[in-house]
Amino acid sequence: MKNPYAVTNWVLAMLFGYFALWSGCSCILDNTGLDFATAATVMKVQNIGWSSFITYYFLFILYLTDNKRLLLNPLFIVPFLLLPFVFIFQNFTGNMLECCRNVPYGIAGTWKNAPWPHIFFGYYTAFFILSVYMLVSFRRSTGSRSEKKIADIMLWSIAAIFVIGTFFGVIMNYMGIYNPVDTNVVFLIFVGGLIYCAEKYEAFKLSSVRNADRIMDLINEGVVLLDGDGSFITANRAAIEIFGCPDVRLTEKEYGFIEQQLANAGVSSAGAEASNTELMFRDARGAERTILVSNRLTRNGNAASGRVCTIRDISGLKKAEVDLFESVKELKRSNEELENFAYVASHDLKEPLRMVMSYVQLIRKRFMDKLGQEGNDFINFASEGAQRMSELIEGLLRYSRLRKAQKDPEAVDTSAVAGIVIKAMKLSMDEKKAVVGIDGPLPVLKADRVQMEQLFQNLIGNAVKFSGKEPPRVTIRAERRGAFYEFVFRDNGIGIDMHYKERIFQLFQRLNARDEYEGTGMGLAICRKIVESYGGRIWVESEGPGKGCSFYFTMPAALRETGEK
Ligand code: ADP
Repeated sequence: MKNPYAVTNWVLAMLFGYFALWSGCSCILDNTGLDFATAATVMKVQNIGWSSFITYYFLFILYLTDNKRLLLNPLFIVPFLLLPFVFIFQNFTGNMLECCRNVPYGIAGTWKNAPWPHIFFGYYTAFFILSVYMLVSFRRSTGSRSEKKIADIMLWSIAAIFVIGTFFGVIMNYMGIYNPVDTNVVFLIFVGGLIYCAEKYEAFKLSSVRNADRIMDLINEGVVLLDGDGSFITANRAAIEIFGCPDVRLTEKEYGFIEQQLANAGVSSAGAEASNTELMFRDARGAERTILVSNRLTRNGNAASGRVCTIRDISGLKKAEVDLFESVKELKRSNEELENFAYVASHDLKEPLRMVMSYVQLIRKRFMDKLGQEGNDFINFASEGAQRMSELIEGLLRYSRLRKAQKDPEAVDTSAVAGIVIKAMKLSMDEKKAVVGIDGPLPVLKADRVQMEQLFQNLIGNAVKFSGKEPPRVTIRAERRGAFYEFVFRDNGIGIDMHYKERIFQLFQRLNARDEYEGTGMGLAICRKIVESYGGRIWVESEGPGKGCSFYFTMPAALRETGEK
């Protein structure tokens, strides 16, 4: 069976079926003036109805209250389902009723004064009392108002038949007054209650409702159902948690609290449907929460019958957002502080360095012939060191000034940038017989022109500088990749061990000795800072030392390619 709870509907249908059998036979016995022999047969059929009725009624209560402990216990359920057959059998064999006698309203049987009728009364009474007990505890434990109402109606109809039945069947009998009301007419009140529940609260759809409840209780989104007047019907577990109620069994005060919070989020009986209204409130436990409330009307035909409110708890998200905002602010501040520090330090270092350099020059000039070879070597080392320090400071200054120097972005044609850089590097390129080729059109970007030149110069410069035995061959290409252009600078130089693919983009990090290849280790760090300031990315690929390498970077494609319409 696809729906394991559909069985509830079958149980309810069987219950009505047995009652129909019981009261149908009663009608025949009461109204058709049968002979006693036929009446005896009808009574036996009637007996099938009333013997089974209480069993199926109790079974229905077990499904209604979802009592798995008894339903899934074969030691209980098998003998329990066999009980009606025992009584039917006992009646067929004549151990229960004596047939037949005329009564004012038809033909009736008389209970025998034997053990089986007593056992039968015991069975009826026991399961009836058990049903009442289960309904009362179900009413207490369910979080759903409609289930509470089903329990109420069933309990009230039981109370009614108990009072009326006792009055007609016991008190009037005891007082010797003629009782015109047949027992199963009293039972009609009880069955009426069941039918009313089925109709009004869709008890026949109990199975699908319960399945939906299970799904509802598993989802993280809170769901609250309101009726047409905006008052609470039911809520899923998530909603109950969001409102900070300690238990799924809500109190009247908690119903009111939830209704009030939803009203604060603009959910009112006359209000319009709305999506994601933000509400900050203190939940029933006093914790601060931020929720998003959406509400939709439910319709019965054309008329609005109520509302479904979905609630998303964004308290965690809100807090994370605030934390993130704070961290970004802090990061920005410390970044700026660091840049300022680097700028001030390198700027202020320049002055004393210049002094060191000029005095070293002075010493060289004045005392060159007096110092001897060793002395001159020392002076040269000091001078070289100071020169290198000056280059490093210069690089650091450039690096820390990058952001400050960034102008408002303008349209920059990168093929023109490549042309300018190649022209400026003509001397060193000719020296090495280097050829730089541009493969296909290069795009126009929205960027700072000077920085684009710096970027191209560093990458082309490195490709020419880190060449092997062959004269350098460099190709530049750009391709559109979604919202970005991807540039690649491919060379046939010394290549890179991919183990160092991250390190080379860090400040002052170099892979080669200075006497082999000049440099400060700042070029790629500057390239990375430029590219990342536009939201792009830079990386290197190489098949290994001696195999050349390709430097890739991406830049946002804000403008069309040259020549593109
Ligand atoms: P610099 O060029 O001053 O040494 P960079 O930051 O530009 O500093 O480069 C860092 C290191 O990355 C270089 O020292 C070199 O080892 C390596 N590198 C950069 N470009 C290339 C290239 N095209 N081919 C091989 N190695 C390279």
